[in-house]
Amino acid sequence: MTNPYRLLPSVTELLERPELTGSLAAFSREIIVETIRRELDRLRAGIAANAVSEPPSPAAIAERVVASLHSLNPSKLRPVINATGIVLHTNLGRAPMAESAARAAYDAARGYLNLELDLATGERSSRQDAVREGICRITGAEAATAVNNCAAATVIALRALAAGKEVIVSRGQLVEIGGSFRIPEILEVSGATLREVGTTNITRAADYENAIGPNTGAILRVHASNYKLRGFTQAVGVEELAAIGRKHGVPVIDDVGSGAAVDFAALGFPDEPLVGTGIRAGADVVLFSGDKLLGGPQAGMIAGKKRWIDAIEKDPLMRAVRLDKMALAALEATLAAYRDPVQVFAEVPVLRMLTTPTDELRTRCERLAERLREIEGFASCEVLDDIAYVGGGSLPDQAIPTVVLALAAKGIGEEEFARRLRVGVPAVLARLKNGRVLFDPRTVFDSQDDALVTAIRSAVRGSP
Ligand SMILES: *Cc1c(COP(=O)(O)O)cnc(C)c1O
Repeated sequence: MTNPYRLLPSVTELLERPELTGSLAAFSREIIVETIRRELDRLRAGIAANAVSEPPSPAAIAERVVASLHSLNPSKLRPVINATGIVLHTNLGRAPMAESAARAAYDAARGYLNLELDLATGERSSRQDAVREGICRITGAEAATAVNNCAAATVIALRALAAGKEVIVSRGQLVEIGGSFRIPEILEVSGATLREVGTTNITRAADYENAIGPNTGAILRVHASNYKLRGFTQAVGVEELAAIGRKHGVPVIDDVGSGAAVDFAALGFPDEPLVGTGIRAGADVVLFSGDKLLGGPQAGMIAGKKRWIDAIEKDPLMRAVRLDKMALAALEATLAAYRDPVQVFAEVPVLRMLTTPTDELRTRCERLAERLREIEGFASCEVLDDIAYVGGGSLPDQAIPTVVLALAAKGIGEEEFARRLRVGVPAVLARLKNGRVLFDPRTVFDSQDDALVTAIRSAVRGSP
């Protein structure tokens, strides 16, 4: 008889098992090694007590290690492989950050940094200094600051410029962005009063001009990022609004939302305004998010005339909505990536994902399909053309042609298949369509392909 102890795999052998690929990305190596040792000790004890005559296969042991790691880390927040193809998935944390930005956040998190200290003079400085120049560079504005998110940016800008006064907004722009961000309510909490002008579909320059009076605090323009009016419509462009504002001495706030800092129109997304457009057109303050098309951390950018930026920074609310050191470090690095207009597409994942050619996606799908076809358990495994959306309230009807891997598992419905993928480690999110689960490699990092194959294999085999 073979010595059962000798049938046990080594720690190194187990570490190299494909079942553990996902865990290597999610847990520290030390914890994985410790968990493997514990599992092997448990098996040796079983052999010694004659409870185990033949040890389980290395694959089965590796899967027990994964389950054990899983139970050891009961975090609510866990890494997810996003195979939905939705690049800005709000439920999955919107933009994945550039390596440089993630590293900056990591360094900021684990140590000290000169957050509010000028190292040259030893004097106290402003935390905003880290990002001012970068925001000014991508917008062309003379001054800039940043807060927690674009919702906070809108509230504080309205407060600082127009509290106690009227803010003129077109009825066509009284939108809800999602997650209870509604322009009329935002205006209310800012302490300004809403003065609606125009109609849902038509607002003209004269509507704004007629509404301007002694109590006008600002004109607000909102880019309707998540819906679109078609047919008989008219709106006043930011250039014309800025001219009206100048003529009457009323500041114009342009909430552009998504924050495209590269020319998305040239990439085939014609409706996305550049963050610099409003500034060039003469808007006083431009607002946009950090974690939408800019591809950085959650943040709200405020760019514009120095006079207004100073007023915003002096507002007592600034302290309540300021960015923390990690977000600031990540934002500084994200903005730095935009210095190189070519390299930025390789460095910022959102830009890279949105511009990945379908040929490349097809090749990846085919490679994944090839690896999966070796496994029993699929009723179908096909590479198909499909359509994806940007998500995150950006570019609502901009369908992006994409290529997906479509799978159906034998004996389990697509809902159960998707559930198993969701509760696995790492969790995998995919799309469901016509009885199949669709995996879109557009939003899956190359480095996650192995973990994805393992997760699919486990889900089909019924574990976890
Ligand atoms: C998304 C969006 C916001 C809210 O931005 P957050 O960063 O999510 O707070 C505000 N205005 C517009 C136009 C938006 O598109």
